[in-house]
Amino acid sequence: MRRKTLQVNVDSVIIGSEYPIVIQSMTNTDTADSKSTVKQIMQLADAGSELVRITVNSADAASQVANIREQLDAKGYKVPLIGDFHFNGERLLKDFPECAIALAKYRINPGNVGKGAKGDQKFAFMIEKAIEHKKAVRIGVNWGSLDQQLATRLIDENNALATPLSNEKVIQKALVMSALQSAQKAIDIGLPKDKIVLSCKVSNVQELITVYQDLASRCDFPLHLGLTEAGMGSKGIVASSAALAILLQQGIGDTIRISLTPQPNESRTHEVIVAQELLQSMGLRSFMPLVTACPGCGRTTSTFFQKMAMEIQDYLRNQMPNWRLHYPGVEDMKVAVMGCVVNGPGESKMANIGISLPGTGETPVAPVYVDGEKTVTLKGDKMVADFIDIVEEYVQSHYANNIDNKKTNKKVFDIKAES
Ligand code: SF4
Repeated sequence: MRRKTLQVNVDSVIIGSEYPIVIQSMTNTDTADSKSTVKQIMQLADAGSELVRITVNSADAASQVANIREQLDAKGYKVPLIGDFHFNGERLLKDFPECAIALAKYRINPGNVGKGAKGDQKFAFMIEKAIEHKKAVRIGVNWGSLDQQLATRLIDENNALATPLSNEKVIQKALVMSALQSAQKAIDIGLPKDKIVLSCKVSNVQELITVYQDLASRCDFPLHLGLTEAGMGSKGIVASSAALAILLQQGIGDTIRISLTPQPNESRTHEVIVAQELLQSMGLRSFMPLVTACPGCGRTTSTFFQKMAMEIQDYLRNQMPNWRLHYPGVEDMKVAVMGCVVNGPGESKMANIGISLPGTGETPVAPVYVDGEKTVTLKGDKMVADFIDIVEEYVQSHYANNIDNKKTNKKVFDIKAES
């Protein structure tokens, strides 16, 4: 059951418990380089990112934000942009009002706004800008830049106790307090409660779970989840999935980002795909048909079926920008590509479309199952192309009439999000 929260409207995207969990990503281009930034935002949006965060760290960056928004609009990309502000956010919002207007949400890190009265003034100025322009704000606390004054005070208070908590526990408490106190400050300044999203990111899986459970129990703001500095490759994916899956299963989390460090030359869109696959694997949202494939074993020593499974998954992914528009509901389609007769026919029958490839020593033919019935047996070099033709035919015959049901699908989608 999703935790009940307020609903925060970020342009066309609504964040909160009655709405599907929103996927976010962040560019790694220099925002001052508008051409590269627009290109990467479009790639992220095409991959399925529903909100995109961009760094706004300098006058050069801030001066390009409105231009980036205009270029995206001209190309038909409506994806809302979030400005990531740190040490000089108030100055940039003041000096570049067009930037303040073009952004849909401001991300403010209270630990990097400044100390004491000056920090309070800077924070207040940014919140006032959000109020003036009717923007949402994410108060994003990060353990790497935690409000040091607050942390020091809590550590001193803790040390004075007869049975002090561990420093780890105190820091976790400080993270949650920093987020909640900053949210209250923003409300006191005049920001409506339903303009606030909170996050408290740490890089340790167990700590992230503890911090978010605590945060979720203390407020009804929507929460943005992410394991910060998750790392590269499978380590980053596994750590992020482990942490986020537990929280999502407990109904905690309204937007997510998978903070992967890309491999050299790897597309930034990988973090979006991982986020989609996490939500879809958990049955919380559907984005594209997923391929069920067996791991392979000594019964199928050929790599043909592995290549086929990959080619089919790539094909399905590449079709989605078009299929999403014309074949609503196709994202729930299940396709199976299996390596031999042991589990092949059974798994194929459970999918919408499945193929059971020949294992070592089996007759070199591949039966295809459609809605549980064996329909045709493929063989020869054109097996992948022939199977793709069958998939295409299935999509056109089963989902083309779903346009009118888009609303119904949305309803199902919403019910899933609530479960
Ligand atoms: S379906 Fe066949 S090839 Fe695939 S893992 Fe099972 S026994 Fe091995």
